[in-house]
Amino acid sequence: MQGVGFRPFIYRTAHRHQLKGSVENRNDGVHILVQGHRSDIDAFLQSIHLEKPEASTIHSIHTVWVQDGSYGDFLILPSSNDSKEITQVSPDIAVCHECLSDLKHQKHRLDYPFINCTNCGPRFTIIQDLPYDRSQTTMSPFEMCSKCRSEYEDVMNRRFHAQPVACNDCGPQYVLHTSGGIRKDLTDILTKLISILEHGGTAAIKGIGGYFLACDATNSEAVEKIRRIKVRESKPFAVLFSHLDAVREYNNLSDAEEALLTSWKRPIVLLNARKKLAPGVSMGFPTIGAMLPYMPFHYLLFQRTHLKALVLTSGNISEEPIIIDDRQAIDTFGTRCDAVLTYNRRIENRVDDSVTMVVGTTERLLRRSRGYVPSPIFLKTNVNGIIAAGAELVNCFCVGKGHQAFMSQHIGDLKNLETYDFYTESLARFNRLFRVEPQMVVCDMHPDYLSTRFAENSGLDLLQVQHHHAHIASCMAEYGLDEDVIGIAFDGIGLGDDGAIWGGEFLKSDLSSYERFTHFDYVPMPGGDAATFHPWRMAVAYLHRIYAGDLRSLDIPFLREITDPHFQTVIQMIEKGIHSPLTSSVGRLFDAVSAMLGLCRAPAFHAEAPMRLEAAISDGFDGHYDVEFSPTIAVDRMFEQLVRDIQNKVAVGVIARKFHQTMVFIIERVATTMRDQYGLNKVVLSGGTFQNRYLLCQAEHRLRALKFDIYFPRDVPCNDGGIALGQLAIASKKRESNS
Ligand code: ZN
Ligand code: ZN
Ligand code: FE
Repeated sequence: MQGVGFRPFIYRTAHRHQLKGSVENRNDGVHILVQGHRSDIDAFLQSIHLEKPEASTIHSIHTVWVQDGSYGDFLILPSSNDSKEITQVSPDIAVCHECLSDLKHQKHRLDYPFINCTNCGPRFTIIQDLPYDRSQTTMSPFEMCSKCRSEYEDVMNRRFHAQPVACNDCGPQYVLHTSGGIRKDLTDILTKLISILEHGGTAAIKGIGGYFLACDATNSEAVEKIRRIKVRESKPFAVLFSHLDAVREYNNLSDAEEALLTSWKRPIVLLNARKKLAPGVSMGFPTIGAMLPYMPFHYLLFQRTHLKALVLTSGNISEEPIIIDDRQAIDTFGTRCDAVLTYNRRIENRVDDSVTMVVGTTERLLRRSRGYVPSPIFLKTNVNGIIAAGAELVNCFCVGKGHQAFMSQHIGDLKNLETYDFYTESLARFNRLFRVEPQMVVCDMHPDYLSTRFAENSGLDLLQVQHHHAHIASCMAEYGLDEDVIGIAFDGIGLGDDGAIWGGEFLKSDLSSYERFTHFDYVPMPGGDAATFHPWRMAVAYLHRIYAGDLRSLDIPFLREITDPHFQTVIQMIEKGIHSPLTSSVGRLFDAVSAMLGLCRAPAFHAEAPMRLEAAISDGFDGHYDVEFSPTIAVDRMFEQLVRDIQNKVAVGVIARKFHQTMVFIIERVATTMRDQYGLNKVVLSGGTFQNRYLLCQAEHRLRALKFDIYFPRDVPCNDGGIALGQLAIASKKRESNS
């Protein structure tokens, strides 16, 4: 990958071991030729493994011994740097320890907030085109000073060919805008900004991939201010902690979580909270989305304040993309926040913070953006020239080049006009950046998705694939599976090939086709997509199957809260089939149970009801409700028992747990039946419902005990943000079999 300092590292390491030869980037990898004593060569190989730049990944090293002439020196060959084939771009890398130390010692970089080197700094967010060279980045307007240039040109220096190299004399600078005017001196800026934050104020701060809104995470009023600024924003906020000890003070932290938090990618990691921040931060959830400083400025800020936890949430208004333009940021936040902090380097590629979690000891990505994009995913199949359009709500697209899949950063909900523009611009940019020549496009079957319409209008050969098949294929592609598997897709909603809304599917699936083995029984979804915003409608739909006309007299609290015209309308919709498509969605089943338990009346954000249900789980009773399997999965008995539990005042946490255990039981039971019938042992779990940590952990645990091989999306989200990879894999397989 370009821009992670690998070749200079090899150069310096070869020199240290007194080796001659050369290093060169080629399209099939880095070629290194070394000549010297055998023991030095062995030590050199060791050093590659032990000391390689943090952000570089070595897939494998093949060593061959050759007879060759003699070399006078070790050279970095200008190589294929401008070859059209070398198209890997590094993601942005958090500031490294050496640079943090330089901040205190290097005269021309004392407290310089844009310090970077070949091992760290902005990459994807500043790249306009390849090859990765300063002139093709948004650093191009900054003329290097003589000190920076000599470091840039010195192959023994850590800043050798560090494209964004800069210092106090020549690089970008921050400017703070407040109602009292602007400040350009860094000390002034920090003093003022800290005073604002310490006194409960709010600020819009330009980050690496966009603007963020910040305030003291322990100050309730400040947190409420941010909620008002963002308009209709009720998702939990991410928190930037000053250092690891502060993270530990507020959260439980496992070794795997600590490793992720401190990795060069610096994602937001979902942690179990142990001490309360302001209530508005987590919105009643027992988790905190935590991250550690990744820009030099974050460190400079925390060095000067007693604050240990700042809300740092994307700077956008409701569903719009995160703002990257300085003018727009000042216009939008100038009057709403107490300060707007800008800097004079343009953000070329917008990226949000990535969100990840640890299940067991393994990372599971939930949102793939900063630090992860645009690293490719290596596939077994040839996906060259295939464009995968993705889904709708949590859109990411994916473009294929050879055997590499380039997943886009998190784009968002395409129904929003600005987000749709972001989508089309980014897609064009990816094609240009990675030199993709589009040959075909693959999209969802849903005719109303804007990604589908985009694909239809592209003029390319079009393939439409089923949503849940794509969910399963996405995970298969990630693990290089190319065979029949037991595919279990638990999801929100996706159009099925019988016209119903699927989302609780057991598929016998390979990459190119699938057979629907079984699914959850269909229930009407009153109001179609609108049911997503009214979880109680799903509860009524399920209960109506059992109690029909007697439903109103059922003595459970949630029913008493539904006022009459609404209730009657929904009953009519169900009975007469008005605007009530049938669904097998597990997401909607979670909605129904969450509503029945009074956990979520009106969700303020996507998937809130299922998230509340998971959060409600308490320790105690193990066991599940009854389910019937013939031939589809009927949960009527479960609802009867659940109603009885509610009437008997069984604790909500216990019911929530029993419900989750029931889902695990269903997974276990159907997987076993499918194994018996088809002789398959590989189970792929995918779909948005598996963001539920409890469900995933339990399902994994039980399936392992039954000796299944389990696969779950790891590097690509299990939600719709990962679906484009599955679309890509399916298209590639179909193309292969057609040719
Ligand atoms: Zn560095
Ligand atoms: Zn300089
Ligand atoms: Fe989905």
